[in-house]
This record gives sequence, C-alpha cells and structure tokens, in this order.
Amino acid sequence: MRKGTARDGKRSSSAASASEGQESSDAGQVATARKADDRRGSGARRTSGEPLRASWRPAPSGERDRGQRNRGRLARFARTYGWRVYALPILTVITVLVAVDTASTGDDTPGGQQAATPASGEQSPGPQATEKRGAPVNLNIPTAKLPAGQDFTPAGKGSWHVVPGDGKKVGKGGEEFTYTVEVEDGLDPTSFGGEATFARMVDETLADKRSWIGGGQVSLRRVGPDHPDPSFRVSLTSLETSKRPDVCGFSIPYPTSCWNSSSKRVVINLGRWVRGAKAFASDMITYRQYAINHEVGHALGNNHVGCGNDGDFAPVMMQQTFGVANNYVAKLNTVDPSNRDAVPRDGKTCKPNAWPVLDSRPAN
Ligand SMILES: [Zn+2]
Repeated sequence: MRKGTARDGKRSSSAASASEGQESSDAGQVATARKADDRRGSGARRTSGEPLRASWRPAPSGERDRGQRNRGRLARFARTYGWRVYALPILTVITVLVAVDTASTGDDTPGGQQAATPASGEQSPGPQATEKRGAPVNLNIPTAKLPAGQDFTPAGKGSWHVVPGDGKKVGKGGEEFTYTVEVEDGLDPTSFGGEATFARMVDETLADKRSWIGGGQVSLRRVGPDHPDPSFRVSLTSLETSKRPDVCGFSIPYPTSCWNSSSKRVVINLGRWVRGAKAFASDMITYRQYAINHEVGHALGNNHVGCGNDGDFAPVMMQQTFGVANNYVAKLNTVDPSNRDAVPRDGKTCKPNAWPVLDSRPAN
C-alpha cells in the first residue's frame, strides 16, 4: 500500500522547455520564408502581362458588362494618373500583410521568441499557427515565489555525503522503512546551522507522533553511512542541483523540494529550507517540518491532494510550498500531467499545516 510511485519524482521537463523554444525559433524562420515567397508570388503575377487588378479581383461572369464599363473608366483613370494607379493596390496589400504579421507575432513566448505565424493571408491566418505552437506556460502564482531572506549557497557540487549517525526504530507500524540523512557537498553550513542540526530536525520530525508513524502503519529507523540500501535518503540539496533532470527537474519555475523515486532521494531544497514559503510567513520551524513530512510522505507512497474544507488545516500532501489556496495550486496541474486531477479549482483555501496526523487522530 505504501511503497508506490510518488508524483514529484516524475517531473523533468527541461528538455520539453528547450524543444518548445526550438519550435518557436524554427517556425519563425518558416514565417520569414513564407513572407519571402509571398513577395515572389506577387512579382510573378506582375510579369505575366495581365492587369494587376485582374489577378487580384477577378469579376464574376454575371458582372462582365459592368466590369467592362468599369475597365473603361479605369483606363481613363490610368491615363490620367499613370503608375500611381498600380501603386495604390500594391501599397494596400503590403499594408495588410504587415498588419497581419505584427498582430499575430505580438504575443509573448518564453525567452522572447517570436510566435510562428505565416504572413500570408491566403494560407492560414495567425490564430491557427498560434494554436499549433507550444503554448507558453504562464504560472502566475504569487504565493509560490521564494521569499526574500538569508543568503544560501546557490549551487553545490552535485554529490552528497551521509551524515554520520543512526537511531532506534520509531513507531509501531508493521512496515519498517530505513533512511539516511545526507547533505550535498559544497554547501556553506552557516546558512542551515550545520549538518548535525539538519539531521536532528529530520529525526525529531519523523519521530513525532503527529508524523507518519502516528498513523500506526509504518515505523522508521535512521541508518548511517554503512547501510547498503536505505529505503530513502533525506538530502539537503542546493537550488541549482535540484533543477537537474535527474534530481527534481524544473518544469515548475519555482524552487521546490521533491521525491525522486529512481534515486530514492527525498530532496530538500536548501533555498526553501533557509527562506521558507509565503504561506508559512516567518514560521520557519513549521515550514521545515512540513517539507520533511510532505516529501517523506511521497517516499511512503502518498500522492498530492488539495484543500478539502475551506478554512481547515491543509493536508500535508497539499503542495503548500506553492500556496494553500486550491485555485493557485491547481495551476500546477497544467505543468505536471501526473497531477492533473489532484486539486480542483474550487476556491477553497486552507491554513498551513506540517503534520499528517492532526489531534492524534489518524490522517484518514
Ligand atoms: Zn509533493
């Protein structure tokens, strides 16, 4: 029941983002090429010897007589005004082409790429090409931004070491999980109080009766560097390393912790550990307890949920780092397909909460 696949570990869309950018760039070249083709097309008509207006506005057969009368008037008009008669429709068409191109490439894409839109009005107007293009993800979630605060090492060395120490089994549940506490190499310890402080916070949180052991189904035991195969590794990780596709990925453009089921790594983002999240305001202890319980919750097989009842404490498996309002967190569904039905857009807002078990009652 517990050892399922967690959602966060599946995020990795840096490649997808790159390919979207590439599509925009290539399509822009296609648009330019088509524009050039249009110009060549007009030129070809001009060399055919036909009157310019005839190729653009062929008269229906029923209007032939009237058309001939009109052509007589136009001929007199042309004799009077010379080349300007031909210049007027050319200028009109060029103006239309430029207007179409400008209007349809005005929308924004990541990285400032211009939209792919054929300039020709004959083939397909702007909106069709815009739909084909990969839609830019606009995640405007004000509560998801990293708060201002203390400095931290932005990028570690990309490898981890196990913090020495082990512990007794906590909890009475029949299914036992082992874990290590690890810290990325190259992190300045002053921002998080050193690795022993980090390890103590992890141990105390997981040993609390309000944590997963309080549900009565699992027990936990910390193991040291010599353990060959711990169930999961709680790992303090720099912001840049967390973005790696083999760590958390970066499909959601906000700093985040995650669970990576392939490496069995519970990734705790150092930036979040130091700065917290807006929903928790200045309550760093509660935020850190939340981060540990949420990500370890994935390691134990739990998936994301939303706020159940307006005004209640948020479920620990809600993505509270990004906010405690369902409408904000639901925006994440557009990025992570595995989250698509996790949170309804129903306007409910909860209060921040770090614990799976509230009031000593089982979470479920
Ligand atoms: Zn999660």
